[in-house]
Parts: sequence; C-alpha cells; structure tokens
Amino acid sequence: MRILLTNDDGIFSEGLKLLADALSEIAEVVVVAPDREQSASGHSLTLNRPLRMKRVREHWYAVDGTPTDCVNLGVQGLLKEKPADLVVSGINFGLNVGGDVTYSGTVSAAFEASMHQLPGIAFSQEVEEGFSFERAARLAHDVVTALIEGQLPSDLLLNVNFPSGTPRGVRWTRLGKRVYKQTVIEKRDPKGRKYYWIAGTPEWEHEVGTDYDALLEGYVSVTPLHLDLTDYRGLEEAGPLRERLEALAVAVGEPR
Ligand code: MN
Repeated sequence: MRILLTNDDGIFSEGLKLLADALSEIAEVVVVAPDREQSASGHSLTLNRPLRMKRVREHWYAVDGTPTDCVNLGVQGLLKEKPADLVVSGINFGLNVGGDVTYSGTVSAAFEASMHQLPGIAFSQEVEEGFSFERAARLAHDVVTALIEGQLPSDLLLNVNFPSGTPRGVRWTRLGKRVYKQTVIEKRDPKGRKYYWIAGTPEWEHEVGTDYDALLEGYVSVTPLHLDLTDYRGLEEAGPLRERLEALAVAVGEPR
C-alpha cells in the first residue's frame, strides 16, 4: 500500500506532519506538498511557468505550486514507476464543507486523484475550542484503515471533516449550503488607492443530513463526492429553456 499525501496548508503544517506519521503505520507514505500555504487555491493547475520539486527529506518533497500540481507531479513524475494506491490530502486547518469544497485546495487534491483514476480522501479539522490535530490524525488513520480493508474503487472520493471536540460518531452526509454573504471590505492604501479584502465568517443552513449539521452535532462528517458536476435532474427535465437553446443551436449552424 502506497499513499501519496498532500495538503494546501503547506509542507510545514502540523496537520500534514501528524497525518503522515499516522498513515506511515499502515502504508508507505510519500509526501508531495506545496512549499507554502495554498489554501483556497481551488483546483488550480499551474501551466504558465515551470514547477520545481525539492526533496526536503526521505519521502518528503516540496513543490512551488498548488495541491493539484503536487498530485500531478507525484502521480505522473515521482511515483510513475511505483504508483500510489491512494491519494490523501490534509489534515486541513479549518473545515471544508458545503460549496466551499470548490474553493478548497485540500479537497481539490482529492478531485485531482479522481482525474488520474485514483481514490482520493480529503481530511479537514474544525478549528474551535477543543480542536486537536493529534486526535484528527488518529481518526484519519482509523478511517483509512477501515477503507483499505475492502477494495478501494478508483473513483472513490471522500470529503472527511472532524469536529473540534471528541466526536460522538461518524455520519455519512451530503454537502450543506452556505447562507452567509461573503463581504468585500474596501479600504485605501497609504497612497490613497483603493484595495479590497474578501472576508466574512461562514454560516450554514441547519439541514438534517448535511455535513455541517453532522459537525454541529459533534459527529465526524464523511461526504462521498464525484467529479461529474452534471446536473442530472436538469438534464432530464426537458423544459422551455432546453427547447430554446436547442433551437438556437440549429440557427447557429445556418449561414447568415
Ligand atoms: Mn488550508
């Protein structure tokens, strides 16, 4: 069993170190992680400049790019001859729930695993009173151990979040919905020019069955995700919008 481990908080983050230690008990762990923090980098891939990978110590490599870059360099480069069986990302400092998974570099690394037909798991830790990366690393170890007892499907993609206190159990959840409005703060720099800062504290809909709801009740949340973003309900519903668009497609092909 070989695990490619990455994160978005950077190679020197505590969550990565403790997760690497915990997973080393059950697998060979190769760390390929960003050389600095890349939180909220989403599923960003670096194509406009070369990337450098630096060996930090045995089985640890720092990349001057995003988590997605790290998965690519790990899968297609470093581990090309001895492929990883699983890509793990985290443990992130802070939750990654609901639609925020699209901002998350941590979760995007797991999405990238899917692009390479590898199972991927993202781990994130709520940062409130009582939070512990040590406990999260133990739990992540248990989650991965439970998963590798069975056959790991290549399209397995799990988003796992740990509550800040001692968990009451594990819940299988769907993504929740954010209700807060992200605010943009406008200020002026010393030269009188405007600058902007995106801010705001996330708030989530309290809906039963969601990731946020499970965490709120003190449970570990496990959400199965997939890369296919198709809205299958929308695809099935042959509404007037579809008719108008398909009629337009015919007109587009006509000479004008
Ligand atoms: Mn992060």
